[in-house]
Amino acid sequence: MDINKLKADIISYSKTIGIDKIGFTTADPFTELKSRLIRQQELGYQSGFEEPDVEKRTNPAMLLQEAASIISIALAYPSKMKIRVENKKGERRGIFCRASWGLDYHHVLKDRLQKLEEFILSKVPNARLKSMVDTGELSDRAVAVRAGIGWSGKNCAVITPEFGSYVYIGEMMTTIPFPPDTPIEEQCGTCTKCLDACPTGALVQGGQINAKRCISFLTQTKDLIPDEFRDKIGNRIYGCDSCQTACPHNKGKDFHFHSELEPDPEIAKPLLKPILHLSNREFKLTFGKVAGSWRGKKPIQRNAMIALAHFKDETAIADLTSILENEINPVAKGTAAWALGKIGGETAFEALKKAKHRETDPVVIQEIEKGLDFME
Ligand code: SF4
Ligand code: SF4
Repeated sequence: MDINKLKADIISYSKTIGIDKIGFTTADPFTELKSRLIRQQELGYQSGFEEPDVEKRTNPAMLLQEAASIISIALAYPSKMKIRVENKKGERRGIFCRASWGLDYHHVLKDRLQKLEEFILSKVPNARLKSMVDTGELSDRAVAVRAGIGWSGKNCAVITPEFGSYVYIGEMMTTIPFPPDTPIEEQCGTCTKCLDACPTGALVQGGQINAKRCISFLTQTKDLIPDEFRDKIGNRIYGCDSCQTACPHNKGKDFHFHSELEPDPEIAKPLLKPILHLSNREFKLTFGKVAGSWRGKKPIQRNAMIALAHFKDETAIADLTSILENEINPVAKGTAAWALGKIGGETAFEALKKAKHRETDPVVIQEIEKGLDFME
């Protein structure tokens, strides 16, 4: 087997199936990442969504016996909407982060990786391959950096010279010893724009993130959002792009290579009030195709209430009052109470006072009291 020819053939083929960048690295353990992850765990900076076994995350041999190489792939996604939403006076909208604009990238990347697997197996039938996207044990970013896809920015994103950090990445472990590519030199230099732009100070220092302070993580949790972050979330109902939009390497980067990654503006930037009343079925029908729906409707509804509070949207008072009166979930009720307090006014005040007499859940009562405090 001419391995250099095979690698060249794979690169050529990847371009025909809509892979925008491809890189190769060894299956050696990710030793630097391992110490970084242990440090993150010790500091309590992890989100809890990641694979807890650091060894599995950093040692490819534990995931595929006789792993010899890893292929990293990247697909560029749009940073601007081609079609704008029609803004009508008084209608308030939330925003999903760009990584959740089109069809869920897990499906898109899996499709490309599967095609690539089929191609490789047609050339090397006895090869063993294992592909992963995001939810796999390996760190997509660490693989991409070592495979020369991009460098790891101080905002913790992989930054490619061609597409900025607006790329989805996935990888495939193989038992074929492909010659590795060279990593790209880090190009952040003395820039600190992402750190300065982060609304919550989640970027502790260049390249280190405290997930528990990061809006992207917070919008995906299911609990009440801690007080100190609620005002900072703004109208983000899923994810946060501030440390990416601030990056000079993303300036002017907006690629529309893949039709399935094009956003539907009514979904990517949806009206806030209708979200509050969606049934599970309606939520699935409307938002089920985007990556941001993976935690279900409750977190998105909670975030929509925070966004309505951010806009001080008085037309939402009736909707929020109804949630406070009729919901069972204390997170929804508590957030509605807090939002009513933020919006303020006589009607909201009366609704909170009434709820205070009726409510028995201490968590909700606390939020009602916070709401009433805003009005005093
Ligand atoms: S995603 Fe938002 S909150 Fe998280 S680090 Fe970036 S700017 Fe900060
Ligand atoms: S904003 Fe500056 S420091 Fe942050 S990732 Fe971009 S280049 Fe690096």
